[in-house]
Amino acid sequence: MDFAFSPEERAFHKELRSFLEREVPGWYPGIFVLDHADYERAWEFSLAFAKRLAGKGWLVRNWPQDYGGAGASIWEQVLFSEEMVYFEEPRGANYMGPNWVGPTIMKFGTPEQKAEHLPRIASAEVIWCQGFSEPGAGSDLAAVETRARQDGDDFIVDGQKIWTSYADHADWCILVVRTDPDAPKHKGLSYLLVDMRSQGVTVRPIPSLFGDHFCQVFYDHVRVPRRNLLGEKNGAWQMMMASLGYERAGVPFYMEARRRLEQLADALKQQRRHLDPAVAANLSLRLAEQAVEVETAKWLTRRAYWLIARDLPADAAASQAKMFKSEVYQRTANAALQGWGLLGQLERGDRRAPLDGRFLRMFYWCLEGTVAGGTSEIQRNIVAQRGLGLPRG
Ligand SMILES: Cc1cc2nc3c(=O)[nH]c(=O)nc-3n(C[C@H](O)[C@H](O)[C@H](O)COP(=O)(O)OP(=O)(O)OC[C@H]3O[C@@H](n4cnc5c(N)ncnc54)[C@H](O)[C@@H]3O)c2cc1C
Repeated sequence: MDFAFSPEERAFHKELRSFLEREVPGWYPGIFVLDHADYERAWEFSLAFAKRLAGKGWLVRNWPQDYGGAGASIWEQVLFSEEMVYFEEPRGANYMGPNWVGPTIMKFGTPEQKAEHLPRIASAEVIWCQGFSEPGAGSDLAAVETRARQDGDDFIVDGQKIWTSYADHADWCILVVRTDPDAPKHKGLSYLLVDMRSQGVTVRPIPSLFGDHFCQVFYDHVRVPRRNLLGEKNGAWQMMMASLGYERAGVPFYMEARRRLEQLADALKQQRRHLDPAVAANLSLRLAEQAVEVETAKWLTRRAYWLIARDLPADAAASQAKMFKSEVYQRTANAALQGWGLLGQLERGDRRAPLDGRFLRMFYWCLEGTVAGGTSEIQRNIVAQRGLGLPRG
């Protein structure tokens, strides 16, 4: 494995970073943990910013030119994703389409599906959501009960999904449905591309600690044209595993952890003389420990991408990276919040809140990382079984 970047990749990285330093305003809080006062403003900013990134050909830089990409190496895309997270994800909800929905359509879709959907993802015209989880199917994804039965040239979908991120804003959903109730449970599932404005789709946001971006989605006799079936009927399992691999490799939490560490280190340097020496020494050690872990998470993620880029089996490596980086993110959030003592618990808007409450938001938000995209327990099972070849527990 050779991880040296090419001159083109280094030049792109430099240009991207200086663009983001210049163009992402200090007030932008990211869209993940939201104060309601800022919600609309941050959301509108992210929509417009994603279009600007798309206009520069950066949103899906490694996609073929036919689909709106620039045919660049996967490493430019990895650098791009890393910088997005470092700069508070200014493309907003426009990460699911580029990071894993688009690649899944590119790998398994018909030429018509690719032509219809990929250029619109590349230009940030549409927001996608992912309809996997149900009240009775989360870790055990094969337990999905939402049904789709064929009726002429359509499927008719009935059922309920939960925890669907951004469903209230999404234009399209990549939806897992049961098309053969009599087959063994992994084998009766299909993937449908569903227009979220179809009649019979009802979206209800679920308020949460992080803001309102989760939703329940009810499908009541929703007609989906047969041409929107992705891949083979009853063949979703393999595609879902590929899609989850892209997702698990794809979110570089360690870049937010790195940014917070840098911010905390700067603040500590400035305030060191006001701190008890024992507290300062202890904090320095914790930050050093986290800096090592953040770097390790980065290389585990890049290793998963290295395998994906070569179409080699990457699920165990993606699970290893996902588990480690989400747990590092939590440990860093803990260290950062403790580093600020009681001040760290002040909310955004309080003039004494360090960095306008960003550490507290990181602390809230970090809880999700070990659940979204499959829990840490599930990632450990995958590493044990598919990585180490151990028997199922
Ligand atoms: C921020 C966020 C965003 C999300 N976005 C989406 C989305 O856009 N679309 C979507 O479809 N879903 C989404 N989800 C849902 C997510 O995929 C599920 O929450 C996750 O897969 C866990 O499923 P569950 O909540 O049903 O928990 P359960 O599966 O009920 O698990 C409960 C507990 O049991 C443990 N457990 C379960 N099975 C095993 C096992 N075999 N071995 C060991 N331990 C086990 C789990 O680790 C967990 O601790 C999101 C979740 C979060 C937090």
